[in-house]
Amino acid sequence: MKIYNSATHAKETFQPIEAGKVRMYVCGPTVYDNIHIGNARTFISFDVIRRWLIARGYEVTFAQNLTDVDDKIINRANEQGRTAEEVATEFSNKFIDVMHRANVMDPDVRPRATKEIGPMIGMIKTLIEQGHAYAADNGDVYFAVRSDPSYGEVSGRKVDDLMVGARIAAGEAKRDPLDFALWKAAKPGEPMWNSPWGKGRPGWHTECAAMVHRYLGCPIDIHGGGSDLAFPHHENECAQATCAWHEGFANTWMHTGMLLVDGEKMSKSLGNFFTLEEVLEKHSAAALRLLMLQTHYRSPLDFSWERLEGAENSLTRIAGTVKNLTWAARHAEGDADASLAAKLNAAVDAAKAEFESQMNDDFNTAGALAAYFQLVTEANTYLDQAGSAVDADAALGAAASIAGAFKVLGIELPEPEEELPAGLLGVAAGLCAYTGDDVNEAAERILAARAEARAAKNWDVADAIRDQLRDMGLMIEDTAAGSRIKRA
Ligand SMILES: [Zn+2]
Repeated sequence: MKIYNSATHAKETFQPIEAGKVRMYVCGPTVYDNIHIGNARTFISFDVIRRWLIARGYEVTFAQNLTDVDDKIINRANEQGRTAEEVATEFSNKFIDVMHRANVMDPDVRPRATKEIGPMIGMIKTLIEQGHAYAADNGDVYFAVRSDPSYGEVSGRKVDDLMVGARIAAGEAKRDPLDFALWKAAKPGEPMWNSPWGKGRPGWHTECAAMVHRYLGCPIDIHGGGSDLAFPHHENECAQATCAWHEGFANTWMHTGMLLVDGEKMSKSLGNFFTLEEVLEKHSAAALRLLMLQTHYRSPLDFSWERLEGAENSLTRIAGTVKNLTWAARHAEGDADASLAAKLNAAVDAAKAEFESQMNDDFNTAGALAAYFQLVTEANTYLDQAGSAVDADAALGAAASIAGAFKVLGIELPEPEEELPAGLLGVAAGLCAYTGDDVNEAAERILAARAEARAAKNWDVADAIRDQLRDMGLMIEDTAAGSRIKRA
């Protein structure tokens, strides 16, 4: 399996630190608001990556934090006249709930910053003892960036380049503009904890480094997040962990690409800003995931309501094929054509092999899905050609393979919305394996079969079609303009 490491800008053969096990960490949200679909893209991408590692047989330990103390939370609380804790609790719960609705698996460990103050203080002490951090007179503690010779390696930046435009903001007690806060002295009205440097709270970058070390152990196999986190957040996490413990931090860095809406950057001012919650009110989680996975996780993803509608239709069509394969297998009659069945079996094997090879190539979900779209087309062709003489094993094998591949990606196929009544497809030979998703087309075929039977004066078949439709509450209406099927 090859994974693109954003720190080395290369696809590397994945070699877990401990055979058969993967330890991975993905930065979680700062819980001050509902997450938007750009955030969701990151969490869904890493859910798929995790699912594929599990499917490959790895024992995966996945940790993700909740940043429940931060300037954004404090500001939101002040705006709303609430406590920071109330805001953080509300949006932590909402985040967990919407992740469930998006079919994102719970992390194995979900540490919260406010419950990890002790380990963070421990790490900061270690950094001060080793000369990598210093406490300022005002009670802030800073990491001394220039004390870390490997600073910049995660995000590909050079310390000297970072100096351009860097400055010390008012109220900061840094020695060097590049330094970043590990601990912030308490301001009135803010959440605060006791520390050797007085009352205060941890900096954002501090929590992930401490949690990775505490829950997974350094180094880990995979560290991930959105590409906007590579600098400074991931760079700073890495600097702290490597300087504190000298064990390395993350072997592979993975970053997801941006999400655009109709080709533009999503922003509240452009009116194209959507939360995950509002998208899932209108569309299924499976459709959103299908849309997202049709673009490689590192590439920019273009979201639009039309594309989402298209993904919803694709899912209905795929689910229809799975259902028709299953139905046809259960109602198979006559001798199945062995060469047609062999062709279908070969198509299943080819799709499976291609799916695996694409997923093993840096989780290329777009290529993996394409292999199964192709199989769906071939399965439909098979059903058309086989008629009622379906090879049950081949048809069921194809159905299971299609449903299984989508499930591995976390896409649960929907029940087709408009179910064709059982028996409708059996009214005439050749219709029993109807494979389209358009009910009108099925009706057309039935009417054509009846017209054909009548033209051939095959009255038994024509009557059987009429009678079976009547049993299902449908009737054929013959008019001057032609025939149609309507509810009786
Ligand atoms: Zn982080």
